[in-house]
Formats: sequence, C-alpha cells, structure tokens
Amino acid sequence: MNEVTRLDTIAEYSLQVAEEDPSLNQLLAALAQLFDAPIALVSLIGADFQFFKARYGLAADRTRLEDAFCAHVVAQDAPLVVEDASIHADFHHNPLVTGDPHIRFYAGVPLQLNHVPVGAVCVIDKVPRTVSALQLALLEKVSAHVSHYLTLWHQHKQLQQEQDLLEQSPAVLMQWRNLHGLSLSYVSGNIDTLFDLPAEALRQKQAVLEDFILPSSLNDFNFLLTNHQSGVAAAEAHFQIKSRNNKLFWVKLISRAFFTNDGRLDAIHAMLIDHTANRYTEVKLTETNQQMRLLLDASGLGTWDWNIQSDVSKVNRRWCEMLGLDYELFDSSSLFWRQLIHPADQTGLDAELQRHLDGKTLVFNTVYRMKHQAGHWVWIETYGKVVTRDSQQQPVRLAGTHRDITAKKEAELLETKQRQLLSFINKAQAIYLRTGDLSDACREVLAELTEIADSQFAFIGQMLPHNGQQSLFIHAITELSWNEHSSQLVELYQQGQLYFDSFDNLFGKVITSQALIISNEPASHPAAKGTPVGHPKIFRFLGLPIMLKDGLVGMIGLANKFSDYSAADAAFLQPLCDALAGLFYAVEQEQARVRAEEQLKNLAMTDPLTGIPNRRAFIEHCARLKNSPTGYVLAILDIDHFKRVNDTYGHAAGDEVIKLIGRKLQFCLRSDDYSARLGGEEFALLIEHTEIDMVHLLLENLRLEISAEVVNTADADVSVTVSIGARYVPAGEVEDLHLQMADADVALYKAKENGRDCLMWF
Ligand code: GH3
Ligand code: MG
Ligand code: MG
Repeated sequence: MNEVTRLDTIAEYSLQVAEEDPSLNQLLAALAQLFDAPIALVSLIGADFQFFKARYGLAADRTRLEDAFCAHVVAQDAPLVVEDASIHADFHHNPLVTGDPHIRFYAGVPLQLNHVPVGAVCVIDKVPRTVSALQLALLEKVSAHVSHYLTLWHQHKQLQQEQDLLEQSPAVLMQWRNLHGLSLSYVSGNIDTLFDLPAEALRQKQAVLEDFILPSSLNDFNFLLTNHQSGVAAAEAHFQIKSRNNKLFWVKLISRAFFTNDGRLDAIHAMLIDHTANRYTEVKLTETNQQMRLLLDASGLGTWDWNIQSDVSKVNRRWCEMLGLDYELFDSSSLFWRQLIHPADQTGLDAELQRHLDGKTLVFNTVYRMKHQAGHWVWIETYGKVVTRDSQQQPVRLAGTHRDITAKKEAELLETKQRQLLSFINKAQAIYLRTGDLSDACREVLAELTEIADSQFAFIGQMLPHNGQQSLFIHAITELSWNEHSSQLVELYQQGQLYFDSFDNLFGKVITSQALIISNEPASHPAAKGTPVGHPKIFRFLGLPIMLKDGLVGMIGLANKFSDYSAADAAFLQPLCDALAGLFYAVEQEQARVRAEEQLKNLAMTDPLTGIPNRRAFIEHCARLKNSPTGYVLAILDIDHFKRVNDTYGHAAGDEVIKLIGRKLQFCLRSDDYSARLGGEEFALLIEHTEIDMVHLLLENLRLEISAEVVNTADADVSVTVSIGARYVPAGEVEDLHLQMADADVALYKAKENGRDCLMWF
C-alpha cells in the first residue's frame, strides 16, 4: 500500500487531526491492564508524524515518524513483536529506547480502515518480555474493533453534518409511517425556525400538524394523504398554516409514498417549503387576471392568443360565445378558426395579417365575417399585436381581441341597401314616366331587386282581368327556361302576355290571403304544391302583397335567399311595394282617363238617336281615305216623304223609322263598310274595295230590305221607302270630299225626280 492511499484514507475518515477519543482511551486502559503493560496506543501514521487517536500511559501525543515502531507495522502490514528493543538491531539506537519512555517490549498489529493499513494498535513495556499467540490474537481483535469503531464514528460524523445541513436547509423533512394508521414519525427541527411550529411536540405527538393547518386548506392536505393511501406515488399540495404565534404561511408540500410488497402504504416522505412569497405573487396575479377578465367580460370582448411557431391558439369564453361554440371543445390549431372565416374575407385578412407580421403595421386591425354555429355570419373586428419575437425578429406570439360588430355592420348595410332601394324605386318611376310602360319599369329594376334581396329569383306581378278572370300579369320575372313548356312561358313573357290564373300554390297564397308569406322550407309549407318538373328547386320563398287601399293589386315574389327570409326583409322591401302600388294606381288612373276621353270623343262622333256615326264622324272617316288605292263608292240615302210620316203618325213614330234605317244599315252593310246619319232623315254610306256591280246589288238590296220592313209604332204599322244617290270615286282621285258628296246629292235628287224608291248613279 503506498503512502498516498494511506494518507487519503486517514483524511477521508477525518482522522488527520489527533483528536483523542475518551472511549477508545478506556478500551486501551483495559487492554494495558489485560497485558499488565504500562503503555497501550492507537496510532496513525501521518505524513510527518505518528499521532495517537487514543493512548494510555504516554504523555506525548505524537512522535517523529522515523522513531515510530508502528510505522514498521504499517509498512509490512503485519504484526510486529520486539521482545527487547535494547538488543534489537533495528531499534537499539531508537531515541524512544535510549531515552524516555525507554521502550524494551513492543507488540503491535496493523489498524486497517477500508482494508488500508493506516496505523497500529500496540502494547508497550519498559522491561523485556514475551507475548503469547493468544495475546497477539487478542490484540488483533482489539484492532479490528477499533477499526470498526472508527468507521462508525466517521459515519456518525457524516450523519451529524448532514443533519446540521438539514436543520439549516429551507426545507422541512417529514415522514409518516403507516403502522397502525398513518402517524408522523419524523420531522426535521427546522420546522421550528421555518414555520414557527413546535418540532419536539410534533415528534412526541403532543401536537399534530393538522392542528396548524387552516380549515380552508385542510381538504387539500387530506386529499394528498388520501391519494397516497389509495396508491398514488408522488403528490404535491399547497396549504396554509397558522403558526404558534399566529403567523400565516403558505406551504408547498412535495411528497413521495413507499409501499409494501403487498401494495399497502408503508411510509410517506415529504418536504415542506415556504411558498408564502410565491403564493402572494400568484394570488396577486390571479386577482389581476380576474380583474382583467371582468373588464373584458364587461367590454364583451373575446380574446385570442396565437403562438404562431407552435400553432397553438388560446381564446376566452366570450370568443367562443360570439360564434356559438362550446368553449370546452375549442380546437387550438389555426386550421380550426381559419375554416370559420367567410371565404370572401380570407384574402383580405391574410394580407392584413402578413403586413403586421412583416412589421409594416403597428397594430393588426381588420374586419371579417366568421360563421356562427347556428349558420349565420358574425361580423368580427379584431385588434391584435405581435407580443413576442424570437432572436431573429420572427414573430412568435400574436395576441388580441375580437369584437362582435354585426349589429353595427348590419345597420350600415341596411342603410346602404335602403339608399339603393330608394334609388331604384326612383328609377322605376322615372322609366314609367318616360315610356309610360309599367313592364319596362319593372324589368329595369328586377336585377337590382334580386340583388338587394339576396335572392336567386324574383318576379313582379299585377292583378289584371284576363280571359274573363282576375289573373296575375307578370310585368317582370327572372328568365328561366328548363323545358319546352317553360320556354313557351318565357316567350309569352317576352311578348308581355304572361298571366298566371291558378293560385292554388305558394305564390298564389299571397293573392288569396292578401298577406305576406315567408317560407324558409317551401316544400313543407301547407300551400306548396311543388315546382313544375325541371324547375330549379325553390328552397326559400318570400311573397309580398302589393296593396292599394284595402285590396291586393299585385305581388312581388322572391326565392332562394342565401339565408332565411325574415319579417325584416319584408319590412325592408315595403317601400318598393308601396311605390309599385302607387305606379299601378297611376296607371289605372291614366287608363281611366283615356277611356273617358274616348267615350267623350265617341259621344261627339255618334248620332244619339241611332247610335251610328254622325256627320262629323263620317267626314273624319272619309278624310282618312284620301288617295285610296282601290277606289270607293259614296252614297246618300234619304227617306221618301218623311214629312208625311211625322205628320201622320207623330214625331216619335218618325224617330222609330229613323232608328230602323240605322239598324238596317248596320245589318246590310259589310263590316268594312261605313255608314253615318248626316242629319234629319238623311244617311251617308262609304263602301270600299269593291266592284261597282257588287255595290249596286248591295245598295239595291238595302233599299228593298228597308221598303219591306214594317215599323210597329204605338198607333200604327208604318213602312217607308228610300231613295239613294251614289257616286263612284276611282283610285287616285284627289277631288274634294264635299264635291263628291255634292255629286252623290245630285244623283239622289235624280232618284227623287225619278219617282223615289230607287237608286241612281252620278
Ligand atoms: P222627300 O221625299 O222629297 O224627301 O220628302 P220629305 O218629306 O221626306 O222631305 P223634307 O225634306 O221636306 O222633309 C223632311 C222632314 O223630316 C222635315 C222634318 O220635320 C223631318 N225631320 C227631320 N229630322 C227629324 C227627326 O229627327 N225626327 C223626325 N220625326 N222628323 C224629322
Ligand atoms: Mg230630306
Ligand atoms: Mg225625304
């Protein structure tokens, strides 16, 4: 064994300083007595000295190394017996032999620590003597015992040091054993100084830890013990204690449980740490957070926090509520919230986001729509900011708020739409005033109506009589044709001839009930009769009645809005219905006026007695015939001796005769021919497009028909004859009508002269 190993071992066992051990001294005293020797020693061979860990019968506590007998024992690691040193070759000059203490006899055995010889246990006498094998064996036993003792002493020292460290540590150690129920078996003394709790009383079970735990915390503490009892290996609990001097502490307890082979809880080792300062900060933080949350709640803001690099998003409850989402089911991946964004808003949002991430904007602020769980869109205004960037200035975290601005946005949109609506109502009115055609006006605004109502199809109809019944005339309709029948309808529509007269269906319900119809599932609406084969599916329908005074005058039909139709949509479009009602009314008034005018005109042109055209009408009619391409015949008919009729039967009978002539003219002439009463008992005829022979026959026939007729008046039966004068006007003749009439009159005069009841040509 080399010297370094020996010295290291001595140092390791903390034996380098000669610190005498009283109990070893007593052992040596007993050994000396047993050997009947004056000196016994436990020596250690240091670097410069031999020194004694224990000694009996020697004043000095060390000797020089070169004088040490024990150094020989260590060197040879075997017992050394010198019976008489004064005659021993190695020792007779040794100062300890020649001088004090005058050693003659020496018997020593090695003292080993951890199998390293570090010194010796020896017995010394001042007179020469021998030693038996038994005595030497005894010495070796004592040495082994000393070695063991020193090892224990060293371990004890180590433990003591650890204990000291523990007592000064900021953690209290505790142990519970589960022998007959769980009970505290160890607590380190520093619980006194750290938590102001009585370590000794706890150890002696005069006090229990639970006595000091605040009632509000007791559950947390007991929960930990229960957990261990039910098999949990490691646990942690936070609880509050109130010390002997009423000091409050927050305690963090970290524990580990040990179990027996059969799984029963054996012991719990725990460490208690004063957590008061941390806890204070924690509580403060929680309070601040809570205040923030209250503020956010009050503001109605949703919050979001997006870790871009790990793509984990966190949001608050309000964020989820805005979209009707279950907070517990929020998915932290950005894919989740991205798919809720309106497709039309995605590009704008991404551009704005990129601008902010690139550092081009101070704040990420934009507006977009997100899909609500219930299916509608929510307008969201977001304010955000990059809150963390990495060392390369790349954004790591982006956080911000969401505000639901749907109401505001919808009000804005409504206002815009209202302006649009008013403008196209004005447009419709302007078109009508310009063209006087209501269908033109309706067709012109149909596209805008469809767009403003968010719909796919639209029509505007007016109730008008058609084929003897009130029908819905379609002024304007989205042009759709999907089969032959429907293309016929489209054709009719384009000719302004599309009428619907069957109202036993969804749109007809508006007409029959004169009420608003909203149906967002038309297939299930009681009035729905299904659409014709091939017709695009109608899945939503809004029917608006157009009312005037108390009656329905028309309707607007809208179909297939992207979302549900509502009463609000109907209210929004009411101004259009009112405007159309106004237009329908105006048209009706206009038509009535035209009719009245026509009637007046008719009155002025009709002979009131016979109901046939009068002289004025005849002249106007003939004026239209100027430059007739075919030529015509002009004839004048006069009743013969009419004065006599009046004189004989009275004026009323005369009137009856005049009426008979009127009827006969209508009856005998063709529809193309024209006749009028010129005045008195004189009539005029205009016969077009024909041969003179034919006209001759026709006029002769007329004359005979009249003469054959008998008029039954109140007093008597009257019959008359007529004379006719006719003038043929060939095509292209430009002569004045009055002259032509005069010519006919000449012919008539001839007929009278000729004996009356005949036809004469000019
Ligand atoms: P002639 O064969 O030469 O035509 O003899 P006339 O008696 O028919 O001829 P005239 O012209 O002298 O008489 C016409 C009469 O017709 C005079 C007038 O009293 C009568 N008259 C004219 N207008 C009406 C009328 O609206 N009703 C009645 N009842 N008589 C009328
Ligand atoms: Mg006459
Ligand atoms: Mg006459």
